[in-house]
Amino acid sequence: MNDWHTLPISEVFKRLKTSPKGLSEEEVRKRLQIYGYNVFKEKKKRAIIIFINQFKSILILILIIAAIISFFLGSKLDALSIIAIVILMGLMGFIQEFRAERALEKLKAMTTPQCTVIRNGKEKTISITELVPGDIVLLNEGDKVPADIRLFETENLEIDESSLTGESIPVEKNANIILSKDTPVAERKNMAFMGTYVTKGKGKGVVVATGMQTEIGKIAKFLLEAKEEKTPLEIELDKFGKRIGIILIIICLIVFFSLTFIAKERIIEALLLSIALAVAAVPEGLPAITTVILTLGAWRMVKRNALVRRLAAIETLGSCNVICVDKTGTITKGEMTVRQIFTGNRLYKVTGIGYEPRGEIIELDEIKKLKPNKALEFLLKCCIIHNVEEVSLIKEDNQWKIKGPPTPGAALVLGYKAFNENEINKLINKYPVVRTLPFDRFRKRRSTIHKVGNRFLVIVSGAPEVLLNQCTKILLDDGSEKPLTKDERNRIIQMINNFASRGFRTYAFAYRYFDNMNLEKVTPETAERELTFLGLLGIIDPPREGVKDAIKVCKRAGIKIIMITGDHKLTAMSIAKEIGLEVSEDKVLEGRDLDSMEDKELEKIVDKVTVYARVTPEHKARIVKLLKKKGYIVAMTGDGVNDAPALKLADIGVAMGIRGTEVAKEAADLILLDDNFVTIVEAVKEGRVIFENLKKPINYLLTCNFGEILTIFGSAMIGLPEILKPIHLLWINITTDALPAIALGLEPAEPGLMERPPRRKDEGIITNRKIIYYIVMGTILAILTILFFSLALSVNLTFAQTVAFTMLALSEFGRALSSRSEINPIWKLPNNKWLWPALLVSTFLQLMVIYIPPLTAIFHTTPIPPYIVPLIILATLIIFVIDEVRKLLKIRI
Ligand code: ADP
Ligand code: MG
Repeated sequence: MNDWHTLPISEVFKRLKTSPKGLSEEEVRKRLQIYGYNVFKEKKKRAIIIFINQFKSILILILIIAAIISFFLGSKLDALSIIAIVILMGLMGFIQEFRAERALEKLKAMTTPQCTVIRNGKEKTISITELVPGDIVLLNEGDKVPADIRLFETENLEIDESSLTGESIPVEKNANIILSKDTPVAERKNMAFMGTYVTKGKGKGVVVATGMQTEIGKIAKFLLEAKEEKTPLEIELDKFGKRIGIILIIICLIVFFSLTFIAKERIIEALLLSIALAVAAVPEGLPAITTVILTLGAWRMVKRNALVRRLAAIETLGSCNVICVDKTGTITKGEMTVRQIFTGNRLYKVTGIGYEPRGEIIELDEIKKLKPNKALEFLLKCCIIHNVEEVSLIKEDNQWKIKGPPTPGAALVLGYKAFNENEINKLINKYPVVRTLPFDRFRKRRSTIHKVGNRFLVIVSGAPEVLLNQCTKILLDDGSEKPLTKDERNRIIQMINNFASRGFRTYAFAYRYFDNMNLEKVTPETAERELTFLGLLGIIDPPREGVKDAIKVCKRAGIKIIMITGDHKLTAMSIAKEIGLEVSEDKVLEGRDLDSMEDKELEKIVDKVTVYARVTPEHKARIVKLLKKKGYIVAMTGDGVNDAPALKLADIGVAMGIRGTEVAKEAADLILLDDNFVTIVEAVKEGRVIFENLKKPINYLLTCNFGEILTIFGSAMIGLPEILKPIHLLWINITTDALPAIALGLEPAEPGLMERPPRRKDEGIITNRKIIYYIVMGTILAILTILFFSLALSVNLTFAQTVAFTMLALSEFGRALSSRSEINPIWKLPNNKWLWPALLVSTFLQLMVIYIPPLTAIFHTTPIPPYIVPLIILATLIIFVIDEVRKLLKIRI
């Protein structure tokens, strides 16, 4: 069925067996069985594929081949145990990757968009995956269209269909037309298509197709193969792995030749050993460990209300050095209460707490009490009739809450304080809303048009100075209107500044009566002019708890905070001061200042400014662009449709989880589930922790690997007998190395982490200094091992091999402990609850293969006197001490 646009809406309902009241939950369940979930069939990574992938590495294949050859030419037991260990290695890799994969899927599921449907006659928010044909969907500004929909109600609905048609200008929709069969998709004005988004207005429609049946689904069939994105670090590690791999393989070749020609080993054994060495030493597992650490980190962040949409963002977070943040709702609570009213030249105070519709309106100027106050009366009426459709006041769990934007919400609550239920209902009936001109960030005001008798009343509310520019008259307390004189205008501006400089959010009302109006054609330009000024509200919106401390943390951590707001300059400055931001006149810019500046001029000061006030979303994008140009790593918050470009431009786009539109969320890298500024700072901190934690296992593993290589290489060069068996190397590689490495990736935050400047973005993980460090530490480890081996040789070869094997395996104690931090000595670090268990388990595994009989045969070991074990551990602690001394001497690696 593909001709929904040609049918009258009644026919659409009939065919889909639905109505404007929506489906019942039972019917939805039935339809889900038939049509399936509203998703594109994504190729899920099957467990078996992940498992097989573990063996795709060339080195492992060579090892398996060598083992098979040795099965026929040499020891059958050795060959079999090597193959067993390779399978075990594959299994370990599989478990890690499988868990990371599933965790990622769950994270992804948390970011599936939501939509509002009508089911059983009630509005309900659901995940878009649960939509079925016949569902009734509500569309609002900023929503993603969740399926293919035949519209049946539209109010100024405009949809950006560029994702489907490539056309970047939003399309105006109209539910009341019927189109011919051959209308192309791009011109079906009575339809809305999945994946496009609402830029303006409202609409209602019925779902006609979901998932792969949608227009975009049909295209998606070909797009599903899209490659997964790798994070910059994974790419770096991939590259490093390849580079170091080549060097190591050359070393292995040298080892092979020196074993055969200097130590005169049998060729097949020398070959096996060299290949096992290559497998053990080439750090192929690094990208996988990185993914695991990033994924676990992402989970920790979700628990703190920061939802990461791309793993790469975690790495960037750690280097973020500017946070551009919205004021309202992010720095402040966003729960607004009207405290002051200025109208008819008089000032009133309002009492009461939060959104509870109880409180008094007290006149501040006692003498004037006796006079009539028509202006106040009308203003309070407007608070009700202008806002009832925009927000609603509800009582939930014994708490008064508003549903909708908080600024009009505060005004509505004020109205509820003044009138009782009965009066309110009468008002709503007397002044029905016939048209609305929604709020936008550019115009900074909003209108409702009411039919009163045979006249039309336009009520406009918004940012006071902006609104005042549209006013020519003022309403007085006796009910008369009088032209606005220059003095009067100045007095109002003074009052606005007075409110704002005390931290009040300012919100003004104006109105105008029209005798005639063409409701279809009305625009802000025609309706919002030559208005009568009605009054001004002063609204408090206090900072959230913890913001002040979070800002202190940022200062110490070298992160600049820039406040960006559509609000009044003085309000913004007052709040900024309250939370501890440095503000002086020269650090504050307004939107109109930006407009009069060239990019070159603005670039010079863009990072000196701490508050940008009365800005539009376009200014936000410009600020991000210039900050980036100056080399900053920028985090930028946003919530509306218009914020999407700035969010995309920013290194870390941060969308609001509660207030944010679906479009903003989709453009963002990070979603704040609680809309709270403090959460961004937490996320940045977590980003730093995770970056540090990525380095720790790498430092640990690479030193161990270099130790293994140099041990074999060194002993072969000086003509010692075979110091380790291939199986020893493989065993060390999967058990004793792997467990502490993962534990190191879970280290808690180091002290001083937020007291140092952000990391440079191009600072890689593996530098030349690091490689020197690995070689030095590895050499010390190798010398110790060879020394113990030579001493033990006086007993016999197997005994000496067991000692060397145990020595390398247990060297993890020294290495793991000092790898816990690159700069902090061990006694300054908080406890890592994973590390000791990991060390104990791998010690236990090691003791098992040297003391338990059938295993000793497989591993070619012999029980060594128990007192030697602590001696060996003590020896490995030498490496630990050397590294700790390096930290004390402040030698950076
Ligand atoms: P912020 O960046 O602080 O969230 P906004 O851009 O939301 O600021 O608001 C700027 C100004 O517009 C406010 O000071 C207020 O006066 C006015 N305003 C905000 N929301 C509305 C609304 N829904 N209707 C009318 N005016 C509004
Ligand atoms: Mg806002």
